[in-house]
Amino acid sequence: MTAPLIDPFQRAISYLRVSVTDRCDFRCVYCMSENMTFLPKKELLTLEELDRMCSTFITMGVEKLRITGGEPLVRKGIMTFFDSMRRHLDSGALRELTLTTNGSQLERFADDLYAAGVRRINISLDTLDEKKFADITRWGRLPRVLKGIDAAQRAGIRVKINTVALKGFNEDELFALVDWCKARDMDLTFIEVMPMGDIGNEDRIDQYWKLTDLRARLAETYTLTDLAERTGGPARYVQIEETGQKIGFITPLSHNFCESCNRVRLTCTGELFMCLGQDDMCDLRPALRNNPGDDAPLRDAIRDAISHKPRGHDFDYSRQDVSGRVTRHMSHTGG
Ligand code: SAM
Ligand code: SF4
Repeated sequence: MTAPLIDPFQRAISYLRVSVTDRCDFRCVYCMSENMTFLPKKELLTLEELDRMCSTFITMGVEKLRITGGEPLVRKGIMTFFDSMRRHLDSGALRELTLTTNGSQLERFADDLYAAGVRRINISLDTLDEKKFADITRWGRLPRVLKGIDAAQRAGIRVKINTVALKGFNEDELFALVDWCKARDMDLTFIEVMPMGDIGNEDRIDQYWKLTDLRARLAETYTLTDLAERTGGPARYVQIEETGQKIGFITPLSHNFCESCNRVRLTCTGELFMCLGQDDMCDLRPALRNNPGDDAPLRDAIRDAISHKPRGHDFDYSRQDVSGRVTRHMSHTGG
């Protein structure tokens, strides 16, 4: 182990999110345009390079690794990567290996993920209606995702559902989603839509459903108690007293989490973003590629990047105007 990664605001960086591909088998309307152009495959870090990158971060104090994308499970050979990360769990250096997925490939991979040491996953699902599911994901099919969820639970993996709150789309399913998660013993987190990337004709401001409004709607029926639990990220949790369920709210547009932010994001091309809401990044690929067999330059580059982690982000959202908009796609940075 080398000295831990501490940023200029004395935050210890212990959480790395890694996008392993920008590709996806869905085209969710708030995330991608239908005719997305993806990066040439040669731009992507190879699986071996991803391993070296992640392993280096782990020697520098990263204890939690979340694999994301794009859709991580469409990356060819990705199970080799998960299998290889298991050694860090076994050594105790890594406390958690997890992923965020759309669930489409889980039926095939759930047992292998469990075998690699994955014990919790986040599955994105915005509606329980087949037709609406096909509309919002364009290419996704709900029955397949439901089978994936079954497979994950059967394998012994704890599932959390992530639902993007979309005005006029899933407002009417709020209680159905809560009940469904309760019945299946899954946690549920709502996410506010973020202004990211050029996604074509959709007007994201019209989709924006404030989570304070969503929460108020829940509170008309249930007693909600704020939980002290913090993950260092943008999620805040409440407990529904009547059912005992934990519900999360991710409001990336608010600044209420920046002061405790413990995470950085690595793109599938090896760029390190220090803040989801800022364009500041550091390209770690040269340090990796120009020094085969010597991780010291990569560690120096990582340390230098972390010394530039900003205090917080600049998102600002209002009905009239979107400022602080970030031009890259979530699928590139890894949501
Ligand atoms: N494909 C995987 C999935 O959908 O879970 C992982 C990558 S996806 C970019 C990660 C999360 O970002 C998903 O929960 C998705 O709903 C969310 N997301 C994508 N675009 C978003 C946006 N513009 N605003 C808020 N959340 C978004
Ligand atoms: Fe794919 Fe996830 Fe983006 Fe949907 S949100 S298009 S599943 S990367």
